[in-house]
Amino acid sequence: MPDSAALPASDARLAGHPAGLRRTFAIISHPDAGKTTLTEKLLLFGGAIHVAGAVKARGEARRARSDWMKIEQQRGISVTTSVMHFEYGGAVFNLLDTPGHEDFSEDTYRTLTAVDSAVMVIDAAKGIEARTRKLFEICRLRDVPIITFINKMDRESKDPIELLDEVASTLALDVSPMTWPTGSGQNFKGTYDLANNRMLVFDNTDKTRIGEVIENYQIADSNFAEEVELVRAGYPAFDLESYRAGHLSPVFFGSAYNNFGVKELLDAIAAWAPPPRPQPAEPRPIEPTEPKVSGFVFKVQANMDPNHRDRIAFLRLCSGKFRRGMKLTQMGTSKVLSVNSPILFFAREREIVEEAWPGDIIGIPNHGVLRVGDTLTEGETLKIVGIPNFAPEILRRVRLEDPMKSKQLRRALEDLAEEGVTQVFRRVIGGDHIVGVVGELQLDVLKTRVEAEYNVHIDLAPAPFETARWI
Ligand code: GDP
Repeated sequence: MPDSAALPASDARLAGHPAGLRRTFAIISHPDAGKTTLTEKLLLFGGAIHVAGAVKARGEARRARSDWMKIEQQRGISVTTSVMHFEYGGAVFNLLDTPGHEDFSEDTYRTLTAVDSAVMVIDAAKGIEARTRKLFEICRLRDVPIITFINKMDRESKDPIELLDEVASTLALDVSPMTWPTGSGQNFKGTYDLANNRMLVFDNTDKTRIGEVIENYQIADSNFAEEVELVRAGYPAFDLESYRAGHLSPVFFGSAYNNFGVKELLDAIAAWAPPPRPQPAEPRPIEPTEPKVSGFVFKVQANMDPNHRDRIAFLRLCSGKFRRGMKLTQMGTSKVLSVNSPILFFAREREIVEEAWPGDIIGIPNHGVLRVGDTLTEGETLKIVGIPNFAPEILRRVRLEDPMKSKQLRRALEDLAEEGVTQVFRRVIGGDHIVGVVGELQLDVLKTRVEAEYNVHIDLAPAPFETARWI
């Protein structure tokens, strides 16, 4: 772990400031690599949940309340994004969940604009998979620093050297192993902490021994000793600057399911992951230590209560000390909002918060005023940049079964466009609504939600256009 003298200048600038304690990150992975399991275990350390399994259980309870989530249940995928706030070891974490399904990449992309770092989870038996690579590329666009967690070591895995080389070559990233596994599957004995010469013991037959640490471990097995020497010589040592610049990824081996290697990972995030960076904006970047509040909306979500049409906008704070009841100005429209019920999201519950700091994510309930990409400030004209907007790849004409419901349809489409579920176009002269989405699954979500929440039955027909452009 780095001592404070070794920390970069950006951390020194935040020394003593609550923003300096924030670690706002996401987990990127291919479906099934273990993101949900790892999230649970991280939250256990944060004391945010006391029983592993609560994340999913709670998610299911919430989903059950909301009709449109039936789609998710049927397909067994997660299409929502949530935020989890927890504290551990003196640091304050904001973990942003990214939806797993490929078609929901828009949402995921935007979520990744709101984090300062990421954890990349890789299934040890599978290595780098398609979606991991895609998400990694998005992180790279902003040089987001990445810590790698190679999961499921309790199962037969690929050779660890092969895994590291695969990460390095497919992602063009330097890798620096922090721990080294001995065996995998039935033969997995634990990991050796390369920097501190400790052995973390994993015992399949005696689960109580999982996580036991032997200090000053003398490696008895000559093959393993040789391998450790090879690994030490063959890979670059961890370098904080290089990690922070997004060039080098420290790598941990473990098993999320067995809560093995998770503490080491969390300690590394606390010690190394960057606190909020200056936020690119026009006409000037925003420093987290500025006294005035600014932030941007990266997601808008329908309130789960179908009887209410209000929305929750997720605001990533970039500067200032946010206080409940503050007035913030929406850039572009100059509308002033009094934020009287800002929400902080924990694993188990949500709470009205009195204050929040850069790096934190607060939910702002509103009636469709706030949109994805909005900048809010205390008055200064600033536009936060870098939140992507996507050109739709699939266009459909919306046909209404009952023509008397055109008003409801319009309302529904406007609401869902605000959430970023679809984009809506109208032909220049009259005609049907045209909706645009990036992935097929979004069409299902659109149809189901329009029916369930607005009681309007629609048919989505191929549109007579190939592409739509804003004019
Ligand atoms: P996600 O799709 O990335 O969120 O993956 P999940 O966390 O839902 O995990 C996918 C499956 O892998 C589940 O059945 C988990 O129980 C299992 N799993 C996760 N971590 C481990 C691990 O460390 N070892 C083993 N053997 N299974 C794991």
